[in-house]
Amino acid sequence: MIDASHALGRAIAPFRAEISALRPSGSQIVEAHAHLGRDEDGRSLTPDELRRMLDADDVGHAVVFPLHDPERDPAYSLPNDRVLAWAGESEGRFTPFARLDPGQNPIAEAERCLERGARGIKLHPRAQSFAFADGVADDIFALAEQAGVPILIHAGRGMPPIADGLSDVALRYPGAPLILAHAAIADQGVLTTRLAGHPAVLYDTSCFSPFDILGLLARAPAERIVYASDPPYGRPLTGLYLILRCAAAAGLDQQTLDLVLGGTMDRLLGGRPLVEPTAPRRSDPVTVSGRLARVVAYGAMTFGGLLAGNLESARGPLDLMAAAARDPEADGVGPALERISETLEAVAAIIDDPDMQWPAFGLMHMCLSLAATELAITS
Ligand SMILES: [Zn+2]
Repeated sequence: MIDASHALGRAIAPFRAEISALRPSGSQIVEAHAHLGRDEDGRSLTPDELRRMLDADDVGHAVVFPLHDPERDPAYSLPNDRVLAWAGESEGRFTPFARLDPGQNPIAEAERCLERGARGIKLHPRAQSFAFADGVADDIFALAEQAGVPILIHAGRGMPPIADGLSDVALRYPGAPLILAHAAIADQGVLTTRLAGHPAVLYDTSCFSPFDILGLLARAPAERIVYASDPPYGRPLTGLYLILRCAAAAGLDQQTLDLVLGGTMDRLLGGRPLVEPTAPRRSDPVTVSGRLARVVAYGAMTFGGLLAGNLESARGPLDLMAAAARDPEADGVGPALERISETLEAVAAIIDDPDMQWPAFGLMHMCLSLAATELAITS
């Protein structure tokens, strides 16, 4: 156990040092997507645990809302009240959003929560199994438009294509600012195209694949992309590493990076106008070292096994990933391959410890972010 935490600490240190170096000095970081409370899937996060995660990477502020709470009926009222109370005790560090179920009195619940200090709305079309095309969310959009509060929408894995129904309702209520979570990977191509003219649609960066963020930077204005890590499923450490590496690969200037890390969310939550959008900063092609592309391919397979909780199916590709990182002729990417080798040794040392599942996952995530962006950053 001591060996495992020691290996973990040593593996994390260089990534954390790099985060400090890539982050513009004095930048205020806002976590745009964090859950508090309990989830049906067994995950949970207390306000103190979230505070510790934020403190570890110097994140000042977080938007918070409930998980898929087993005590959510009726109308999410109990989990919403808990989140409102925790935010009330946070001395302004947490901004609460009310989670709504479109099938359970959403307007009354939204009004109740907004009166008590909620500053936005969270919708999860998969967990609450509804479709925007059915019109069930129209009243919620109308209310958000009228109240001038944003709606954060799960747009990640586990859903059929949602883009058309969601775009239609978003364009019917353009005064309701949107935050499409998880880089909108549920339908990134269609959503970024159809919502290109929407005045206030933001994309949060909480996702696993660096190519989703590089893709987003090629499809959406950087002024509409906001850092997020989705605790307890992700952590600021890995979320920050992902966005900072991708931003460096895209050549974002410091002022724009400040907006991505917290400036844009600060404006949105403060009811101030967003900065005018500019053209996407990247073009579509991605610059990746061939050596590191092999690492990324096996890393993605390993990641899939870990994500499914299937350790056995993760071991084979993990060995191949480690093999791909061993290279006596590194062709300019030696330091990245070396760091990945060392990190994978730590992953191998902790992977069997049930308490170390998340750290193993987090280290893998950072290896993918590093490998996918190295050549674009150094060339
Ligand atoms: Zn989430």
